[in-house]
Amino acid sequence: MANQKFKAIVIGGGPVGMYLAHALQQTGIDYVLYEKRDTIPPPTAFGIFLWPHGLRLLHQIGLIDQTEAISSLLTKISHVGPTGDVVREYSDFSLLELGHGYPVRMFDRASLAQMLYDNLRDPTTHIRTGKQLVDIQRRAGGVTAHFADGTREDGSIVIGADGIWSTARELMRRDSPEGLFDANPYLAGYRAVFGRAPLPTPRQDASSPVLEPEVQFEFHRDGALLQLFTSKREVHFIIYMRKKTEPRSEQENKAGKGGGFDPNIDDTDAAIAPWLDTRLVEGLTFGDLWQTRAAAGGADLDEGSVGLWSWGRTVLVGDAAHKVLPNQGMGANGGFESAAALVNQLTALLRHEPHPHAAELRQAFAAYQAERQGPMAAFQRMARDELDGWTRDGGPPLDALRAAVALIGPMVARAARLDAVPFPDERMGFAPWVYKVPAEAARAAGGGPKL
Ligand SMILES: Cc1cc2nc3c(=O)[nH]c(=O)nc-3n(C[C@H](O)[C@H](O)[C@H](O)COP(=O)(O)OP(=O)(O)OC[C@H]3O[C@@H](n4cnc5c(N)ncnc54)[C@H](O)[C@@H]3O)c2cc1C
Repeated sequence: MANQKFKAIVIGGGPVGMYLAHALQQTGIDYVLYEKRDTIPPPTAFGIFLWPHGLRLLHQIGLIDQTEAISSLLTKISHVGPTGDVVREYSDFSLLELGHGYPVRMFDRASLAQMLYDNLRDPTTHIRTGKQLVDIQRRAGGVTAHFADGTREDGSIVIGADGIWSTARELMRRDSPEGLFDANPYLAGYRAVFGRAPLPTPRQDASSPVLEPEVQFEFHRDGALLQLFTSKREVHFIIYMRKKTEPRSEQENKAGKGGGFDPNIDDTDAAIAPWLDTRLVEGLTFGDLWQTRAAAGGADLDEGSVGLWSWGRTVLVGDAAHKVLPNQGMGANGGFESAAALVNQLTALLRHEPHPHAAELRQAFAAYQAERQGPMAAFQRMARDELDGWTRDGGPPLDALRAAVALIGPMVARAARLDAVPFPDERMGFAPWVYKVPAEAARAAGGGPKL
């Protein structure tokens, strides 16, 4: 094994796993990605929006034109009070583009996944679908991943990009001293019902669509929030409901351990009932939208961070390591960044040592966690504070929340990118990117450190 080429086995073909595949490919690290679903594009109910730093990472891997072709802009936020009147409107999304050179864009998940798949080199060799990870065995100088269909793959490391109920994480827990990893690292203080519907067409007597496209709408209630995101073709909606009971993980709820179960919101019909008559704009209620939904689903909104992101030759990335509430749309964005940071550590290590030992990998994994844990904890806290505020009894403190969200700009400006991938046409706004590419990696990439 010592002379075999370094190979990463990636588990999970969600947005983070697929971005990671590109990052590995572009930095010349061999990989194979295993996904348990039969296809990479997921049959999903809700869209996903990417912030400037997420779009910048897609630009760096050469996908900005395709990205713009499959997504819609978000330009403003509109807050609507309990009486149906717009209480505040901001064009903060447009400011983000001025600040960072990239806007905020809304995707449907299937198109994003398809774009990432189609633009990989030789995807049929590197991406294996219908393969569920069930075990990881260590062997001299490497690991063997085992799948439910009896097949297996030898590699140097396993990267668990397998989401909130990560099997890779569970196997790390099995193989580590008892108590080092939590069985349920995430808790859910909120539950959500989400879905999407076609953007309502203009009425006969009106020249503009009934619901303005490219807007994020927030409808506030005590203990609940309805969020709408409109693209030029679709409306994505999500209803957040604060649980009245002590937060529990969804796994615990499913196991019937109680505590988090609230029959009034765990049932979808009961959850949407209070919103059906909500007037979205003149002549359109949420009930009208719900009638035309193309897809819908519900979930507990787990949040938290895993204490240790690696063990042995397995390392976690994306929702498997850190989970934020979706109201600020930082989950996949943060996952992309973590994937870039992990690949940066691996590229730096492999440049010196093409066949790293476990101890060297441990150091690289620890450095990756040290870089990413703080920012993800901050994003988690900001999303939580914002959702608590938006659902506050008596109405949201909008000025305070807007002031708090301004903190995100400097964090976006510090976002990671791939050290070893040249990026001559990186866009910039009035708040320049401050991430510094280590000098050695910059030399290898043919560029200088960025200020
Ligand atoms: C309603 C909602 C709205 C959201 N909106 C946004 C948004 O606008 N912007 C944003 O950035 N984030 C958003 N998020 C968060 C975002 O969806 C997640 O952060 C993101 O999907 C995490 O990506 P991931 O690849 O780490 O995990 P996942 O998307 O969960 O993907 C994990 C993959 O691993 C596969 N897998 C699992 N177990 C195995 C196994 N044993 N073997 C093989 N494969 C396996 C799964 O099938 C899946 O494809 C939202 C979340 C929700 C719930």
